[in-house]
Amino acid sequence: MSFILQGLGVSGGIAIGRAMLMSHATLEVSHLTIAPRMVDKEIARLDAAIKTVKRDLQLVKETTENAPAELAAFIDIHTMFLDDPELVDKPHAIIRERRCNAEWALVQQMERLVGEFERFDDPYLRERRFDVVQVVERVIKELLGHTGRPVMKLAKGVKEETLILVAHDLSPADVITFKEHRFASFITDVGGATSHTAILARALAIPSVVGMENARSLIRDGEQLIVDGARGVVIVNPDQRVLEEYQLRKNQIALENSKLKRLKTARSQTIDGVDIQLFANIELPGDVPGALEGGAEGIGLFRTEFLFLNRGDMPDEEEQYEAYKKVVKGMGGRPVTIRTFDLGNDKDIVPQGMAADRVKPNPALGRRAIRLSLAEPRMFHTQLRAILRASKYGPIKLLIPMLAHAHEIDQTLAALEMAKSSLRGEKAVFDEEIEVGGMIEIPAAALAVGLFLRRLDFLSIGTNDLIQYTLAIDRTDEQVSNLYDPLHPAVLMLIAHTLASAEKVEIPVSVCGEMAGDPKLTRLLLGMGLRIFSMHPSQILKVKSRVLKADINELAPTVRRMLRLDEPAKLRDALEWLNA
Ligand code: PEP
Ligand code: MG
Repeated sequence: MSFILQGLGVSGGIAIGRAMLMSHATLEVSHLTIAPRMVDKEIARLDAAIKTVKRDLQLVKETTENAPAELAAFIDIHTMFLDDPELVDKPHAIIRERRCNAEWALVQQMERLVGEFERFDDPYLRERRFDVVQVVERVIKELLGHTGRPVMKLAKGVKEETLILVAHDLSPADVITFKEHRFASFITDVGGATSHTAILARALAIPSVVGMENARSLIRDGEQLIVDGARGVVIVNPDQRVLEEYQLRKNQIALENSKLKRLKTARSQTIDGVDIQLFANIELPGDVPGALEGGAEGIGLFRTEFLFLNRGDMPDEEEQYEAYKKVVKGMGGRPVTIRTFDLGNDKDIVPQGMAADRVKPNPALGRRAIRLSLAEPRMFHTQLRAILRASKYGPIKLLIPMLAHAHEIDQTLAALEMAKSSLRGEKAVFDEEIEVGGMIEIPAAALAVGLFLRRLDFLSIGTNDLIQYTLAIDRTDEQVSNLYDPLHPAVLMLIAHTLASAEKVEIPVSVCGEMAGDPKLTRLLLGMGLRIFSMHPSQILKVKSRVLKADINELAPTVRRMLRLDEPAKLRDALEWLNA
């Protein structure tokens, strides 16, 4: 029977293949009563499985070249759990007391630990329950005789490229292993748009859909699947007609992608000779090679809060300095825009000890981003010093998130001056003239953009938040995601006003929200006056192909007329016409 499942597409493209279920129901283990004489043997069986998994994890970490540091850190956490008496010794006691099998004892203890993690206020610690589950799943697989890395032992004649992995979650060790293989795609039950699963999924750069909720229980091993990564759709057992249609689209995408690669070295210029800068958004230093591969002329947004990924403590100045330096050096003289921490909101990344008193139930409207940085001057000072020190190695621009008030800008500039002066005292080398920019992502900032233009060197429009705040919809809440509309006339008015005001005083403005990476919006944004786009690296060449075919002289009057429309249907028709 053919049916369709909906999830969240995290990497575009289409994959067609057979389902391979991972970790299928491994945690639904049966309870067995064992004879008293078997108790010691059962404990030894558990210990041996744990030892093997530990060795396996170490092997994965050591044998994977260029494993990103953040993935290695995840593996260390998993290994640490396997050394923890709570997970290792307690199941021994359960086996002895209840005379049960090792699998059942381990799952009982896991459930108890997960319950404890769930009670933590600190979101970082709460997240760790997923690590406990992942690590226990590996041990259970080992106990049951399944391979911890099923991907390694494919049946003879089965090609990796024809397989679509269906998993509950994606552990960091899985990701490292997958990187060395060429699976067609993968889908997972868990994962929201900003979850770790989605972040790791993007790193694999194959079509994938997360947050399917119950794919593992609905899909059977070997069933044929179509994964439409762009739409977040999975078609199970498609009929012949649908299959042919998708095969055709897949071929078209492959052809388009190979054509696009040829554009990598082309100068990014419109037909009428206007240079357009195409930059990459990155989350971690390890994203730099991908940005260059994607054709980025620089980094338009480095979301530094991801340095907190999978850890609770604050990265100290040295660690931050090394991370920023790595990005700057990696970009080889191209500009790098480093945004100060945007902590305290949707990314579930909150420094240890800060969560309870610093983050309120409505974090998007709370002490987030620059508000948190200004409330934590030591943290801010450390970050500013680290960024300034890295500016010795190449052109860095400093970008400040979530500004709304003039006094926030003034305080930020004063904090920067303090960081500079402390470095001067140490005779450290840094860029005295470092440019400072502000994110325009609050409607108030877009409307009163003059106060930004008078104080700052450049602006960057964060459309993801600008849309959230303009339309009063939580960007992380799937229940209102249908109301998230980049083409809402109010959103377009705010962007247009920002661009036009900045143009008058010749202050550069970029867009670094998702809108910049949507090729359907390239002509519209060009016509509105945008000249700097920053996006996920995978989108750069797609946007470039639109830039190369655009004539701004011709577009601008049409776009001006479009912006006078405030009927959504008319706006959409006009956009279609603009792109035709
Ligand atoms: C935005 O809000 O558009 C933006 C680029 O920042 P982030 O997505 O990190 O909030
Ligand atoms: Mg934002």
